[in-house]
Amino acid sequence: MNRPKLIAGNWKMNGSLAANEALLSALRAGLPQGAACAVAVAVPAPYLAQVQTLVSGSPIALGAQDVSQHDGGAYTGEVSAAMLRDFGARYVLVGHSERRQYHGESDADVAAKAQKALAAGITPIVCVGETLAEREAGETEHVVRRQLAAVIHANGHCISEIVVAYEPVWAIGTGRTATPEQAQQVHAVLRAQLAAATTHAARVPILYGGSMNAANAAELLAQPDIDGGLVGGASLKAQDFLQIIAAASAAQGDAATVSGVN
Ligand code: PEP
Repeated sequence: MNRPKLIAGNWKMNGSLAANEALLSALRAGLPQGAACAVAVAVPAPYLAQVQTLVSGSPIALGAQDVSQHDGGAYTGEVSAAMLRDFGARYVLVGHSERRQYHGESDADVAAKAQKALAAGITPIVCVGETLAEREAGETEHVVRRQLAAVIHANGHCISEIVVAYEPVWAIGTGRTATPEQAQQVHAVLRAQLAAATTHAARVPILYGGSMNAANAAELLAQPDIDGGLVGGASLKAQDFLQIIAAASAAQGDAATVSGVN
């Protein structure tokens, strides 16, 4: 199946009104006409309104970096799915390793967040991935399957509406990337797990994240089960992000040719 590739930037806790404007204007100017891949940016919550305006009329979709598992009320500091929807968010990251690590988010929390996003019509980008210690202990498959299983269990027939991001924790922000083969191996495991849960598993995009950059994107995106990238550091530099988008668009074109779609 020729799944559309998706390149999503995770700005993390970076940006300012001026920097966001400069970055998005460079992205808008540099995006190829009719780019074959989908593009999104997941921005800090205070900038949702600004970025909603800045991406309006462009192919860049708006994303958030987290969502509450509650609908509203006495949850100081949290942002609900309905609030994200008010600002036109199309995607929201759930279960990013930095949320799991620094905010103690459990698999059950992540599953509940995905459920709230789906109920609001927002696509959750569900992040899974093992730590270095877990990889070295041979637990990679067990860990990512456990993380995804919680989301599958809580979301039943909606599961084909999610995006999955495989992000080995040891590759995030470290400059150390999984090899295309290492990533593909885990993506294939995740695809099989989805296939056991839904007949529509083939249409679920599985992104790779972890030090993806302009130099390594093409090789990663050429793998059969790598459907795009969740990009941290490189999404803050317009030229780097545009080169990754170009690599995804080229890979998309190649996949279409191979499968006879175009
Ligand atoms: C991320 O934060 O999701 C990420 C993949 O970061 P980086 O690309 O900087 O490793």
